[in-house]
Amino acid sequence: MDHVVVVGAGLAGVRSVEALRAHGFAGRITLIGEEPHRPYDRPPLSKAVLLGQTDSTVVDSDLEALDVRLRLGVAAKGLRDGVVETTEGELDYDGLVIATGASPVRLRGEGPQHVLRTIDDALALRARLVPGARIVVIGAGWIGAEVATAAAKAGCEVIVIEAAEAPLAVALGAAAGGHTVPWYERAGVDLRLGTMVGSVDLGGVSLMSGGRIDADVILTCVGVRPAVDWLKGSAVAVEDGVVVDEHLRTSLANVVAVGDCANWWSRRFGRRMRVEHWDTALGAPDTAAATLLGEVAVYDPVPYFWSEQFGHMVQFAGHRGTAERMLLRGDPHADEKWAVCWLTADDRLAAILTVDRPRDLVQGRRVVEGGQRLDVTRLTDPTVTLRDC
Ligand code: FAD
Repeated sequence: MDHVVVVGAGLAGVRSVEALRAHGFAGRITLIGEEPHRPYDRPPLSKAVLLGQTDSTVVDSDLEALDVRLRLGVAAKGLRDGVVETTEGELDYDGLVIATGASPVRLRGEGPQHVLRTIDDALALRARLVPGARIVVIGAGWIGAEVATAAAKAGCEVIVIEAAEAPLAVALGAAAGGHTVPWYERAGVDLRLGTMVGSVDLGGVSLMSGGRIDADVILTCVGVRPAVDWLKGSAVAVEDGVVVDEHLRTSLANVVAVGDCANWWSRRFGRRMRVEHWDTALGAPDTAAATLLGEVAVYDPVPYFWSEQFGHMVQFAGHRGTAERMLLRGDPHADEKWAVCWLTADDRLAAILTVDRPRDLVQGRRVVEGGQRLDVTRLTDPTVTLRDC
């Protein structure tokens, strides 16, 4: 293998370059990215960048030392066996890493709507978060909650509109997500649950129920879609992202996929998974590089992510799809620090959500990995160390 092309210069792309070199690949590497920026981290965009604490989140990676040809402002448009078609012409490859991430969903309507995916999105939104501005955030998911936190801190009047009955309902279910409702009240954020936006109009949003909410700034935070349109018509199978096996191999020889765009087979959970979180973009490239170079490697992590919202560190590990029931560790109403445990029918930990309990998260992730049975009475006692349950 002489030339590897990495498409997508985000975290998963740059980590793929590093992993190829770490696995001893001495051939040429070309990294192409649609954005004009050097690879940067996205988690701070909705936190430190919006709060005005930093303007740059460039990933700490010495691309010159890695001897990579970096081509920014270049997008892949199509793929044939051995050839990537780009906006700047064709690129031959022997090995290909697909790391094109995801793009935010926009709602219909003629009015201007912000989204938050890129550093440019974050800087444009930050400029609008001025005291007294009326901000409507559509979607009380992870990013919506973080933006609401920053906007309230900036002195804006913040309204969060959520179609479900609770914040974070898609990720956690309404019962667990509902425990975060008081955080909105305490921050002075007007949370409107069970409310559907029909369209984004000039100066406000129209609701499906017929009403309208006026706004100076509208931010749509209703999720993302894998950025895989450029693979249409290619031999790479796509279904909710790029379909890859447990080695992160696609249906086309010598092509692997990583990060937000990859839908991999998890041996551990016995199902396909596509996880749009930082830890996946960080960890998957090592397996993908090994696979591309002919080594045998399996990607099978316990998924992990975090969010910082309303002054709380929220962390999650596992996959709650295999759980039968949910238990609280601590009382969200009485105690600022609590956790939710999802258990399988035979009392094994499927997933854990922790609020300001980082040690529970670290131990919980290991317990999910280990798969041991737990003593449920001890588990619900927050004074008992989780690994001793
Ligand atoms: P991306 O970061 O999306 O990078 C893909 C790159 O590919 C992009 O630069 C894109 O422009 C480029 N590209 C796309 N199509 C093409 C093409 N056809 N040709 C060339 N280039 C292309 N995760 C957490 O775990 N915790 C958090 O607190 C957290 N906060 C977040 C906050 C925000 C605002 C956002 C947006 C995400 C956050 N995430 C968080 C998620 C995390 O940042 C992503 O999971 C991670 O960035 C995925 O990395 P990636 O490299 O797969 O994709």
